[in-house]
Amino acid sequence: MQFEGTLRKMSTNFGSTVRYSLRIGEDLLFMNRLLGTIVRIEFSGECHCICGKVNSSFFRMNFCRECFFTRPEASPSILKPELSKAHLGIEERDLEFEKRLQLQPHYVYLAKTNRIKVGVTRNTQMPYRWMDQGAKSAMILLEVPNRYLAGEAEVALKDHFKDKTSWQAMLKDLGTDDDLGAAYERAAQVLPTSLKQYLCQHPEEWHMNYPIRHQIDKVKSISFKAAGDILEGELWGIRGQYLITSTGVFNVRSHTGYLVKLEVG
Ligand SMILES: [Zn+2]
Repeated sequence: MQFEGTLRKMSTNFGSTVRYSLRIGEDLLFMNRLLGTIVRIEFSGECHCICGKVNSSFFRMNFCRECFFTRPEASPSILKPELSKAHLGIEERDLEFEKRLQLQPHYVYLAKTNRIKVGVTRNTQMPYRWMDQGAKSAMILLEVPNRYLAGEAEVALKDHFKDKTSWQAMLKDLGTDDDLGAAYERAAQVLPTSLKQYLCQHPEEWHMNYPIRHQIDKVKSISFKAAGDILEGELWGIRGQYLITSTGVFNVRSHTGYLVKLEVG
């Protein structure tokens, strides 16, 4: 079967195994069902920005140059929540957009991939955020009323926890024995007093299982640069936003907006 359209990140459903679906053009593919089959994705050479412009590549973060510097979706506070200013009524790029995004409850969480990291997400994005990252387990640390406070907590915890993980180690399933419960206690102790009131009192540990048939021990990354670039291989598994195939791993999310042809089966 053949499909054509721009790539978007896969959507996830929580269950005994994480369920992935990929929307491409008008079609929605349930990806778990494709495990063990040959998947072929070919890049057309067109990158479609959210503004409608089509270029042969993106500038940064899957935006064209103009959008990267002007759109609220690409503003610095998206990557660094501590730069949020909507709670002060200060506009970065589009105050209405920023108010909608920032002035709502956020979680600060601990997630375990190859190590325990601290992260920030809107409460509506939980547990999807964890599945997008390929976390094995996760726990909410704080629930705060806005994005700025979440960023402040993240910064306060930076010296004690990483805010990044190694995706290669995650795909090789190199784990850590560190205990999330112990990490919660450690984090709770070092938080500034002003943030302790937001601690989640009865944190629950979530566990995620990914659909993986063959565990890889070497990671070869495939990414599209030019028209005609291809990913073709047997689908061995999916973790985070990565398709794990017999020929290499492919990050679907980082190809958001790429126009592709997809062939399966
Ligand atoms: Zn654009």
